[in-house]
Amino acid sequence: MPPTEEAVKLIEASERIAIATHISPDPDALGSLLGLGLGLQSLGKQVAFLCDDPVPTKLRFLPGGDAVASSTDIQPELFIGVDASDVERLGESSTAWLSAGIPIINIDHHITNVNFGTINLVDPQAAATTEMLPAVLDALGVIITKDIATCLAAGLVGDTRSFGTSSVTPHTMHVAARLLETGIDLAAIIEAVFSRRSLSVLQLWGLGLSNLHMDDSVIWTTISAAKRREIGLRDISDTGLSNILISAAEANISAVLTEKSDGKIDISLRARPDYDVASVALSLGGGGHPQAAGCLIEGSLEAVVERLIPLLKAQIASVTEKG
Ligand code: 5GP
Ligand code: MN
Repeated sequence: MPPTEEAVKLIEASERIAIATHISPDPDALGSLLGLGLGLQSLGKQVAFLCDDPVPTKLRFLPGGDAVASSTDIQPELFIGVDASDVERLGESSTAWLSAGIPIINIDHHITNVNFGTINLVDPQAAATTEMLPAVLDALGVIITKDIATCLAAGLVGDTRSFGTSSVTPHTMHVAARLLETGIDLAAIIEAVFSRRSLSVLQLWGLGLSNLHMDDSVIWTTISAAKRREIGLRDISDTGLSNILISAAEANISAVLTEKSDGKIDISLRARPDYDVASVALSLGGGGHPQAAGCLIEGSLEAVVERLIPLLKAQIASVTEKG
């Protein structure tokens, strides 16, 4: 049986369902969690919306966001992970349910997905996890309302930088057109996702941009926990600074290294088409897409720079040799 049919059968047979998404959630993570969850609720299911971290201020416009929590007491019969390539990425709120002996559906679009589910719906051709969800919702007989479409569109907009990445396909645009037909305000979603940053995020960019390093065509910056505290920014990785760095004409790969409060270093990577940062992130225990990837590793900022930059330079060299 195709995995989508198996997933649909399991969902139909379950009354209480926990859906979880990754830590430091981005628009695709929350759009997938809420879009799928609202759809399952419309079928009368009890749904837990799990995420270790709260909904970021800029994403509070998403319908259903108030229900997102780091725990649940519904005793789910089925667990669904969305937009997460491995179980570590799902965080502590999922740990108990992942080992509870209940079936696990893994819905994701990362090429680095490790197929941790009982059923794995993994499509690296999809530009966003939310691009995959209309097929699942259709098979369940869910009507995609304007609220559900708003969540799904936020995922498309976020992961494609407003339909501007090389991951966009005709299917992405078909899904987008269908969501638009429900009456969503796409311009307002794009505005909320990309033009409603807190002042402290801009201050963080200022810090990062005043401390740029460049070697070969790798551009990077580091942000210490102390500096982040000075500007009052909590632990968030989805600040968009890596996207700014990769806009440098001289750069083929960008990296932003941010020291978190727990001392771990969050690494956010971007690459121009033809280069592949997913393989580098995977080798460091993280994951992502060829053009946007990341990982979380132990060590001081200095030690992590010393480990990471040679790997990124080797990636540049391997492409140069091939070309
Ligand atoms: P960002 O740089 O925007 O935080 O993340 C870019 C991409 O890399 C996203 O697709 C994200 O899911 C993935 N990613 C970022 N950090 C990690 C990580 O620590 N582990 C894994 N598996 N993927 C990550
Ligand atoms: Mn995604």
